[in-house]
Parts: sequence; structure tokens; C-alpha cells
Amino acid sequence: MPMDASAQDSAKNTRAAFDVVIVGAGFGGMYMLHRMRQLGLSTRVYDTATGVGGTWYWNRYPGARCDIESMQYSYSFSPELEQEWRWPETFSAQPDILRYANHVADRFDLRRDMQFETTVESAHFDDAAGRWTVKTNRGDLVSARWLIMATGCLSTARVPDFKGLESYTGKTYHTGYWPHEGVDFTGMRVGLIGTGSSAIQALPVIAEQAAHITVFQRTPNYSIPSRNRPMDDAYEQHWKSSYREHRAKARMTRNGVITPLSDKGAVEVDEATRREVFEARWKSGGTTFMAAFNDLIVNADSNETAAEFVRQKIRQIVKDPATAELLAAKDYPIGTKRICVDTDYFETFNRPNVKLVDIRNAPVEELTPKGLKQGGKDYEFDAIVFATGFDAMTGTLERIDIRGRDALALKDEWKDGPRTYLGMMSAGFPNMFMITGPQSPSVLSNMIVSIEQHVDWMTDCIAHAERNGVATVEPTREAQDAWNVHNTETAYKTLYPKAASWYMGANIPGKPRVFLPYIGGVGVYRAKCDEIAANGYEGFTMRRADAGKLAAAK
Ligand code: FAD
Ligand code: NAP
Repeated sequence: MPMDASAQDSAKNTRAAFDVVIVGAGFGGMYMLHRMRQLGLSTRVYDTATGVGGTWYWNRYPGARCDIESMQYSYSFSPELEQEWRWPETFSAQPDILRYANHVADRFDLRRDMQFETTVESAHFDDAAGRWTVKTNRGDLVSARWLIMATGCLSTARVPDFKGLESYTGKTYHTGYWPHEGVDFTGMRVGLIGTGSSAIQALPVIAEQAAHITVFQRTPNYSIPSRNRPMDDAYEQHWKSSYREHRAKARMTRNGVITPLSDKGAVEVDEATRREVFEARWKSGGTTFMAAFNDLIVNADSNETAAEFVRQKIRQIVKDPATAELLAAKDYPIGTKRICVDTDYFETFNRPNVKLVDIRNAPVEELTPKGLKQGGKDYEFDAIVFATGFDAMTGTLERIDIRGRDALALKDEWKDGPRTYLGMMSAGFPNMFMITGPQSPSVLSNMIVSIEQHVDWMTDCIAHAERNGVATVEPTREAQDAWNVHNTETAYKTLYPKAASWYMGANIPGKPRVFLPYIGGVGVYRAKCDEIAANGYEGFTMRRADAGKLAAAK
């Protein structure tokens, strides 16, 4: 991996002016930079990290892996890149995805416009100048016409504010900020808090090393075996020989992934057929299990058949019946928390060095100097791993002091939940785009597909503005309100709001309970965005520098 050309002398940039500032150097920020260069716009990218890759830079925990197939979780914008890159496995491991991100940065010479180890602390819009002033923790004070938040949906890891956290004298780790040098758990007594996707991937690997691991579970999760395997040459060729057609198809699917989707509902077929279908999906593995029938996320009875199938599998795999019962999720529909994908997760509970502790009704009371106290019992650990998730979708944006027109604070505007138009812009914050922002398909999709769609749409919008002497682009409140209503209504047609998930903001105390992503589907959403652009950016106000309106909202 090449050296990170990080923070090439932050001081020289203090008080520079750019056309575009991009916050974040993950897949979103990288592609946006590439597109802005094609428009001939001067651009600066900032990232807190020392290198590119975003999620795949930070989440280096053991077992970290993509749950979308490698041939699909990759950029589509460069046919040459598509052909030359080779993925070693069907589901890529974090180190391979990070290698890919670095390869892309090299291939497109992205680093020369990136400044690493630099956190954007504030961004204020200057109404008179029509520009954003961006401040970083390194003392940079730069201005830009366009501000692109490529800050990620899952980039602010969260350790719950456990009482006594500071008193614990052992090692602590969060899966989302894993040490680059790795962690050797050999011989250690480990406590693992959380049983979401990250924990489900990490546990089997840590359990192989640790002397003992205790897993503290508040809510059990449904998980499907990934059936990951080395990349098959013929399969790779199948994709590479017709990538254009595959990509075009993926863009119009429900979640940006080509997957065999049934045209039948689960309750439309008899029990034996249903079992056969679920069995086949379980055997082939991965999130495609949820596409076994077309009504699993809208029909509670259908959903229950899938949930019960997975519970039965858990009961077959886990030898201790009491542990199996604790691991079998029962009080929310399958798929309404992100469906997990694993390699030997449930099997790991058959190991003698793994213990599951149910903390649903007896939470962790406090951390102590030697471990933690829960259910009146003291546990001693050499290391505690927090797999406790993220302040998703809004958390990262709200940690930046973003102020739009008349010093309007984004945090205040969003105090009851995010308010956006298409999940791309927020009224009162002109020229600020959010890549995979809240109320866009984002986390309910193959995110690279959604990232590319947003970046391409934003690039066209910026090009349109530049061509037509438009100084500011901003959604109207009416269009934004209508999108908010549509977002919520669409979500409530499904079973998703029934789970206390991070999609609903439920994992963060005090966070408003609103459904954060847009669930209408990637293809439907793309068509809507394209239609809006074709209709002269319907719902957006575009103002010339002389304050004349170019295109008013309809
Ligand atoms: P990120 O990759 O999150 O990058 C955002 C960057 O912005 C970060 O590097 C961060 O440091 C930087 N940043 C944020 N705030 C600031 C600031 N104030 N100043 C400077 N820099 C800042 N998606 C899938 O589609 N399939 C998967 O299988 C999948 N697996 C995942 C596994 C894990 C463990 C996690 C956490 C997420 C996963 N995702 C998955 C979602 C993943 O986040 C996206 O696929 C994608 O990588 C997001 O890219 P991004 O560029 O939008 O954001
Ligand atoms: P997560 O899904 O939010 O899981 C966090 C876990 O920590 C949950 O089990 C949660 O319990 C528990 N927890 C939180 N606060 C707690 C507390 N105070 N006490 C006890 N337990 C607590 O986070 P994640 O596992 O990091 O995954 C986040 C998202 O990242 C995923 O949903 C997915 O989108 C993405 N991801 C994908 C993959 C992949 O397979 N490709 C892997 C990792 C992550 P509750 O459920 O009760 O809140």
C-alpha cells in the first residue's frame, strides 16, 4: 500500500479559496473529487483519517467483511478499473476493500487534492458572498462555493456512556476505531458488548484466539451464513464480460444489488414449498435470503415464516438449548434491523470458551477497574470490545457546526429528525450536498451504487449551475416537506418501524425516533431524481449572483 500523502502541510492552505470542499475521503468523497476535476473545479478533500477508504479504513476489526458480493460492491464509473481489479473472495474482507480504495486513489491520482489528519469542525454559509467558510482542527480557514458532505452514514462510532468507563484499567476497543496494528487476544479474557453485524463478524475470529470471551447481548439478531468462498474464475468472467448490462440492471433494482427476487409472497405458497425456498436461500447464503419471497418486509405473517425458519436453524446449530433460545430473535420482524451475514457465528457458541449473557432485563451496571458489573455479578476482563454501533446517518453531520443562511444551525433544524429534499440537500443550506444523506436509499442499498448515483446527479446539478451563472442552489421548504412526508409514509407501509433499530435512531438515547433512510427503492428513487432534474430541477430554487431567480420551485 502506498504511503498516505497525508496533510501535505496544512498551513499552506490556510485561507485558500476553492470551488469545492469535500468532507470525507471514503468511496463517496473519492468519486466526487474525480467528478469535480472533470468539471475543471478546484477541489480540496479533508478527512480525519490518515488515508482513503472511510468505513474500510476505520473498521479493521477481526472478521470485518462486506455483505454485498465483491463483483457488485465496487465502482462502475471506470470500465478499465472494473476489468483490471481482481477480488480474491466472493465477499471481500476489509483489507481487500481498503487495498482497492488505495488503488483507486493511486490510479486516479486523487491524493494530491486530499488533506488527511484534518477534521472539519465548522462550515458557515456567507449569504452575501454565496460561499461556505470551512474551518478545520488544523487551523485551515478555506472558502468554497460548493460544500459536499461525504461524511458517511456509519462513521461516528459510539461507546455507550457506561458509568465507571474511565475506571476500567484493561484494554478497550471499538470495532469502528480498530487499531491499525491489530490486536492479539491470545490468552486474554475478553468481554464483547453488542450483537449487531460487527459483533457477529468479530466473535468467531476473536473466540479462536481468546482464552475466554463473554458476549453481552441486549437484543438477539437474525443472521444468515455468508457462504463466502474464493472467487470463482468463471463467475468473475461472467461479470466482467457484461459489466455494463449488470450495472445498468443493478441501478434499477430495489437495493442496488442483482439478486434473484421471487415474484411470490411467502403466504401464497404451501408450507413445504416455503421451507424448500428458505432452505435453498440458506444454502446459497447472504442477504439474498430476504428476497426469498416478495412480501417479507411488508406482510407480518410472511415475515414470521422467515423468522421462524432462522430460529429453527439456530436451535439446530447451537447445542445448548437455553443459549439457542436466547440467540433466537422473537420480538421484531426479520430484516427490520439490518439482516446480518456471518461465518460460523451461531456455531461459535458451541465452543467451551464462549459464554452468552442476556442483558435485556439487567443492563451493564457499570465498568469497574477489573471489568464490569452486570446483573449484580462482577466480571473480570483483560480487554473489552465495544461492538455498540454508530450514531448513524445524522450523528456525523450534527457534530460539525454547520450553519446556513442567517446562521441557521443544521443541528437545530434537525432537532426533531433530519429534514431534507431527496436526502441530498436541506432548505436553508444552499450549495451543500450530502452524499447518501438521510432520507435517501443509502444504508438500505449497495452503498457504492447509491454513492455513484448521488455523485453523478450532484455533478450534473453543479455543472448546470456553473453553465447558467447560478450562484446558489437550494431546495424549497415545500418540496422538502413533501419529501419528508413521503419518506415517512413509505417507511410505515413496511414492517421496518416495528424494530428499535438504528434506522429509527433508537440506539442513541434522546435521538428522535424517525425512519432515517428512504425505503422506496434504489431504482424508483433514481427515476424520481432524474425526473426532477429533467424538469429543470423541480423543487429547487436556483439564484443568479445578481439575486435573480433562474428556476423557481414548481
Ligand atoms: P465513509 O466510508 O463512512 O467515509 C466518510 C469519511 O468521512 C470517513 O473517512 C470519516 O473519517 C470522514 N469524516 C467524517 N466527518 C468528518 C469531518 N468532520 N472532518 C473530516 N473528515 C470527516 N455498505 C454496503 O453497501 N455493504 C456492506 O457490506 C457494508 N458493510 C459495512 C460494514 C461496516 C463495518 C460499516 C461500518 C459499514 C458498512 N457499509 C456497507 C456501509 C459503508 O459505510 C458504505 O458502503 C461506504 O463505505 C460508505 O462510504 P462513504 O464515503 O459514504 O462514507
Ligand atoms: P449495531 O448494529 O448498531 O449493533 C450494536 C450492538 O450493540 C447491538 O447489539 C446493540 O443492542 C448493542 N448495544 C448498543 N448499546 C448498548 C448498551 N448500552 N448496552 C448493551 N448493548 C448495547 O452496530 P454494528 O454491529 O456496528 O453495525 C452497524 C451497521 O454497520 C450494520 O447494521 C450494517 O449496516 C453495517 N455493518 C455491516 C457489516 C457487514 O456485514 N457488511 C458489518 C458490520 C457493520 P441493541 O440491538 O439492543 O440496540
